[in-house]
Amino acid sequence: MPENFAGGTKDVIVLGAGIVGVSASIAARQQGLSVVLVDRREPGSETSYGNAGVLSSGSILPLNKPSLWNALPHYLANRHAALRWDPSWTLRNIGWVARFLANARTSRTRPRASALHGLIRASLELHREWIVKAHAAHRIRETGWLKVWRSDAVEAAKQEQAFLAEYGIESELLDRRAISALEPDIMPVYRVGLLHTQTASVDSPGAVVKAYARMFADAGGEIHRSEIKSITPEGDRWRVTLSDGTMTARHVVVALGPWSADLLRPLGYRVPLAFERGYHREFKPNPARPLRRPIHDAEGSFLMTPMEQGIRVTTGVELTDRDAPSSFAQLEAVVPLAHGVVEFGEAVGEPWRGSRPTLPDSLPVIGPAPVHPGLWLAFGNQHIGFTTGPATGAAIASMIAGGRPAFDVTAFSPRRYL
Ligand SMILES: Cc1cc2nc3c(=O)[nH]c(=O)nc-3n(C[C@H](O)[C@H](O)[C@H](O)COP(=O)(O)OP(=O)(O)OC[C@H]3O[C@@H](n4cnc5c(N)ncnc54)[C@H](O)[C@@H]3O)c2cc1C
Repeated sequence: MPENFAGGTKDVIVLGAGIVGVSASIAARQQGLSVVLVDRREPGSETSYGNAGVLSSGSILPLNKPSLWNALPHYLANRHAALRWDPSWTLRNIGWVARFLANARTSRTRPRASALHGLIRASLELHREWIVKAHAAHRIRETGWLKVWRSDAVEAAKQEQAFLAEYGIESELLDRRAISALEPDIMPVYRVGLLHTQTASVDSPGAVVKAYARMFADAGGEIHRSEIKSITPEGDRWRVTLSDGTMTARHVVVALGPWSADLLRPLGYRVPLAFERGYHREFKPNPARPLRRPIHDAEGSFLMTPMEQGIRVTTGVELTDRDAPSSFAQLEAVVPLAHGVVEFGEAVGEPWRGSRPTLPDSLPVIGPAPVHPGLWLAFGNQHIGFTTGPATGAAIASMIAGGRPAFDVTAFSPRRYL
């Protein structure tokens, strides 16, 4: 087994080549550090591949917000497309569920919205800069994100608009006619819409992460493909044991998305990470009736995004074990609804499943591990990790280099759970 790949101890080993790990790697290189990025798959092949591709300016309210209490009775029968829950998982994880719900209070919501706003703002700036530098600017659409209601939900839309406006996040309230003007090729099923005008989207999140990874490699970063087995402190450095050898570095960044808690357990960290699983399926579009932006059907509980391969329909949340067998009930419930809005043909490829990694307060952990110097945590980016990956990674790189992140990271301290 080779002692060290490419010889010598690195400054930083980044574990996980999703959007968070790739971003941490780019930013650490920009700090002049030597960096190896390790993943068992190609960059951007897991959660960062299958998401809805929305770079959301307005997702500052997490799922556990006060309105969740009104929705809960609808979820109890376990038939709602927005949320399915596995009773056995819920019983085994009742502590996580209680903490998640406890955060859905008004007093706990504004501070989290402010924290997420800082993270999102910093991240969108980086996305817009990096996507050009990574020669992937053709993948980004600055056409906003359209949230729509089938019912006369003007009051709900106005409340959301007012809340976003307090943070300087712009949106436009739309009626049926204005929705048709924006999206002339969809069926006129929606009565109310809210266009998040500062939100962008991409036509292939996986390809964007791969382009960012190439940019990192072009800047002198190393990418190594291998299964990560364990991480162990050794004096003032870290040893990372891989399926094909070992590596050492002064700093290790854990950016393993939904797998992050696994490697931390042997070090004594019990991370309360749950998995808000979600699915997607893509369908052949009708080129004569294109979709121009992602559409979130608020009452139908699904999202449709025009992607490179076709129209990607993504589902709500399934709360269960990360690796439990797939259940396609939510996809089966929403695909006919989506088909009633946008014309599309046969399915392209197989259904996809992924896990949104979520902590009880729906904020990621971004910062140093409490007990071990040189160990950095960057995961738990829930529903908005594709948006927030760049600033999550950049904040870690700044802290490693002894600088200050571009946004306030206090609320994201790992100490709140570890
Ligand atoms: C259905 C759905 C829709 C979504 N839509 C959006 C959206 O529109 N906008 C948005 O901002 N976010 C969205 N998200 C959330 C977003 O996709 C995630 O938060 C984000 O991709 C997480 O990125 P990550 O880098 O933390 O994890 P990942 O992308 O999962 O990366 C983790 C990496 O770790 C690697 N790994 C794990 N264990 C090991 C090991 N032992 N050895 C080697 N490698 C290992 C994996 O191979 C993987 O590449 C969505 C999520 C889902 C499920």
